[in-house]
Amino acid sequence: MNFDQYPTYSGNDLGMNWTAQQSVFKLWSPAAEGARLHLYNNGEKGKPSQTISLQKDNNGVWSTTLPGNVKGQYYTVQIQHKGQWLLESPDPYAKAVGVNGKRAMIIDLNETNPDGWANDIRPPLKQFSDVILYELHVRDLSAHPNSGIKNTGKFLAFTEYGTKNAKGLPTGLDHIKSLGVTHVHLLPAFDYRYTSVDETRLNQPQFNWGYDPENYNVPEGSYSTNPYDGAVRIKEMKQAIKTLHSNGLRVVLDVVYNHTGATNESVFNRCVPGYYYRQNPDGSFSNASACGNETASERAMMRQFIVESVKYWAKEYHIDGFRFDLMGIHDIETMNQVSDALYAIDPTIFIYGEGWTAGASPLPDSLKAIKAHTHQLRRIAAFSDDFRDALKGSVFNHTEKGFVSGRTGQEESIKFGIVGAIKHPQVDYSKVNYSKAPWTKEPYQAISYAECHDNHTLWDRLLLSNPEASEEDRIKMYHLALSMVFTSQGVPFIQAGMEMLRTKGGAENSFDAPDEVNRIDWDRKTKYASTVDFTQKLIQLRKNHPAFRLGTADLVRRHLKFLEAKEPQMIAYQLGFNAGNDPWTKILVIHNGNSEMKFFELPKGNWKVVKGIRSILGTKVNVPAISTMILVE
Ligand code: CA
Repeated sequence: MNFDQYPTYSGNDLGMNWTAQQSVFKLWSPAAEGARLHLYNNGEKGKPSQTISLQKDNNGVWSTTLPGNVKGQYYTVQIQHKGQWLLESPDPYAKAVGVNGKRAMIIDLNETNPDGWANDIRPPLKQFSDVILYELHVRDLSAHPNSGIKNTGKFLAFTEYGTKNAKGLPTGLDHIKSLGVTHVHLLPAFDYRYTSVDETRLNQPQFNWGYDPENYNVPEGSYSTNPYDGAVRIKEMKQAIKTLHSNGLRVVLDVVYNHTGATNESVFNRCVPGYYYRQNPDGSFSNASACGNETASERAMMRQFIVESVKYWAKEYHIDGFRFDLMGIHDIETMNQVSDALYAIDPTIFIYGEGWTAGASPLPDSLKAIKAHTHQLRRIAAFSDDFRDALKGSVFNHTEKGFVSGRTGQEESIKFGIVGAIKHPQVDYSKVNYSKAPWTKEPYQAISYAECHDNHTLWDRLLLSNPEASEEDRIKMYHLALSMVFTSQGVPFIQAGMEMLRTKGGAENSFDAPDEVNRIDWDRKTKYASTVDFTQKLIQLRKNHPAFRLGTADLVRRHLKFLEAKEPQMIAYQLGFNAGNDPWTKILVIHNGNSEMKFFELPKGNWKVVKGIRSILGTKVNVPAISTMILVE
């Protein structure tokens, strides 16, 4: 039978559904010749206490009802395929698992709710252009001895108040809160593979970003204080989310539905061989993820799996946003269904993703949720590599400079970044580095960034591209990049620690590098206090003045006018916008990427430079080397 001919099941009750009276288990596996459920007394060892043959329905669903209260037991499912019984595994919809995710657990989710969970609410968010993203790995927050945080590497680190570095400056939660960001974007926090981090030996040094999913609907065990008890990680992740919420911070989950960590041995393949993945013409697994496989979101039950999974995270864990890894592997229709399902739960849930793939895919380009198709995606944003690389140079050429580090010819790409990749009459798309056409419908659909967990940190990169420059000049370049990210119309995004010149010692890909490379060194907050302060002020600037986050393409086209700069490496624009209660109704932004001071001829008006509010007499202003100047009338 062809995969497309498999009967499908549209109910939302696949997996184990516990009640005190009975638990109902359902597994969709239409081609299986037999299926059974094994019950265990613990999540790791021992023989099954009971094995139950599942009954098949004509919709491809195998099910059984377990009488009585079976809470706390663990289980696996096993199917017969081409005459063989495959290896046991949790089912794809498992909500709780034991250590290393080998066995699922029957659980009463209400018992995992921390005190006050019913009253936990998402912090307010008016529009997506108000979002300010802070990308953070769970371990990195607390893995440095100078973090002052007790729960090293754990979800609970996010619940600690009053933590300080060696000089008494706030770290952890207090630090994030003081920065003014709106969303904490967690690198993969769902259960990832034991081959990356083995949950049975957490006393030994281990680190991984976690882009190798094992159980999609379960938190990662190594971030809990007890990975053996399936309930603990759930409760502790909820505690972290609740604390972030009560401090005005929303939480984004980095989701990796585009591939699984294992291929033949994955949960998907053990339950429904082949179905959840795309194949090459020769039947082998295709590999657009460059991780050994790619999922097939266009198939009904894979699409439904993704939609149900994000709904579950949004409802059960109160997750406020989703960052889709390699979103270009998914099809447009799936992403729009994801968006519609989340919109129905809460219209302020923010979705964004990487609008590319990491290899060739059998899915036709026209169907892919790639960056160029962002305008076809409903309320979904994509990372702007156009802007990123125009700022600092291509991530694939480590010594290439960008606008901030002294490379000319990037002006149109920068302007494209400033307007949030919309159609704007003053952008010459033929000169934009990668995209020769607008790719967003609204400016919030472009993520503005200069650095993320991938590739060199901006600070390390500037050392590679500008080894001749003084540290003072490299800090100017860095601040210029930050200014451009936070004053632009897309959604600003920084990697945690960027506000203190984060370094990974030059590591380009630190996905499995030790804590020493990855963790946030909180002493840099003391050492580079001026950059922390600069970042905070930029965030406040953006929050205080709606002109920097106009929100719609129409408003940007109407109120953002580029001004002619007579010199290369100079970009200037005027924001004329009356937000009612903001006295800044006319703002002038001038970015100077040159290594010397440049004159800029001002439009008519009585302009004042914002820093220190100094009046300009005359028609010209001196814009210092490698800097942004903001003026108001
Ligand atoms: Ca794991």
